[in-house]
Amino acid sequence: MKKRVLIIGWDCAAPELVFDAFIDDMPNTQRLMGEGIYGELESTIPPITVPAWMCMMTSRDPGELGIYGFRNRADYIYDALSIANAHAVQVPTLWDILGQAQKRSAVLGVPLTYPSKPFPGWMVTSFLTPCDLNSPLTQRNLQWTFPPRLTREIAQVAPDYMIDIPNYRTDKRTELEQQLLKMTRARFKFARYLLEQKAWDFFMMVEMGSDRLHHAFWRFWDKTHPKYEPNSPFTDTMRNYYRTLDDELGQILTYIDDDTTVMIVSDHGAKRMEGGICVNEWLIKNGYLTLKTKPKNVTQFSTDMVDWRQTKAWGEGGYYARIFLNVSGREPNGIVNPQDYERVRDTLKGQLEAIVDESGQNINTRVFKPEEVYQKCRNIPPDLIAYFGDLYWRSVGSVGYDSIYTYDNDTGPDDCNHAEMGMFILKDGRQTRGHVPTKSIYDIAPTVLNAFGIDIPDAMQGTPI
Ligand SMILES: [Zn+2]
Repeated sequence: MKKRVLIIGWDCAAPELVFDAFIDDMPNTQRLMGEGIYGELESTIPPITVPAWMCMMTSRDPGELGIYGFRNRADYIYDALSIANAHAVQVPTLWDILGQAQKRSAVLGVPLTYPSKPFPGWMVTSFLTPCDLNSPLTQRNLQWTFPPRLTREIAQVAPDYMIDIPNYRTDKRTELEQQLLKMTRARFKFARYLLEQKAWDFFMMVEMGSDRLHHAFWRFWDKTHPKYEPNSPFTDTMRNYYRTLDDELGQILTYIDDDTTVMIVSDHGAKRMEGGICVNEWLIKNGYLTLKTKPKNVTQFSTDMVDWRQTKAWGEGGYYARIFLNVSGREPNGIVNPQDYERVRDTLKGQLEAIVDESGQNINTRVFKPEEVYQKCRNIPPDLIAYFGDLYWRSVGSVGYDSIYTYDNDTGPDDCNHAEMGMFILKDGRQTRGHVPTKSIYDIAPTVLNAFGIDIPDAMQGTPI
């Protein structure tokens, strides 16, 4: 029989949910775990959808890809953050390498694949496709599928197909729950069509619904969440959604044979969000950042607000913080002398790691220097990467707060942050079975190549599982 590999990605799926909390409602997952191996999958630094999936598909770290997050500095001028797309990926992906070996791939919903490029296979791009999510499928930008006629097949087979949920940062949770299920059902419906109708060797899909679910519903499930709501109508929303993922997995597994290697993977995990650290407020308080005028209300940070002649550093919000130094000769109005760069950076790192909560307890902030965690640093990396409170706290970029702490998110309702540990299940009929020690997100691409008997490029950072 023909060797094939099938990977189902559940974005943000946390090992403690899949392997423990919801496992009794996931019989198909449970069976797959019993027939193969499973465990934690360590994500990228940072554990964020972009670049994590593309790091998995190339076995290269964010530094080597030169993609440090959704938005990246395109230049050392202050306002040059650009949103990454597939053109930023300059190294071969799994489907590129497999294509050279005459293998055909079906790629559905993998983040950072837009715009799709010609390759031996079929592609539907991800939630990062720049389009009006409410517009009819067939009127969308043609580059969201390859070949372009695949759009018509989606419209026929799965007319409810959604690239993403138009507004998932919402308080209208009843509608959101319905939309999540509808989106996931439609994506898997089209996945089954591809599995059945196309002559694929490698099949790779990512479902984003699990990520949207966690951010919107985590507080109704996690009793340790500071905003936990018992007896809510959404108590079982998370469990029901995972039951749906499992049901879809069960259907998918009926389309494959014993010569197909099957993997379930996630790009990172999830954990409750305790609150936010206002990174720019903190930099102001500690003498690193000076604004021209202090805003009267909470205001989105912009580099136009900054008095650069009196600023050593500024930061970006998100699930983690990126901090940039204002270096003389590098930034247009830089004031940090290049000879002082390391000293300033080390001092700042130490101060960030000493941040306490409102009761005075150290929150265990971890700060990374890019060159210490990546093999190379292409393009423009941040000067520091910070996980506030070991990712129990997010980074809030907005300014105009009276405190460095906030318990409301500046970009809409959000209950959870990303965690470093994602999960994987692997069944290829060869391994010893059961729970195994933690593997790396960089191990997935070499594992796929190994299954096909294709040489693993030296530049890949992982090893086959
Ligand atoms: Zn993700």
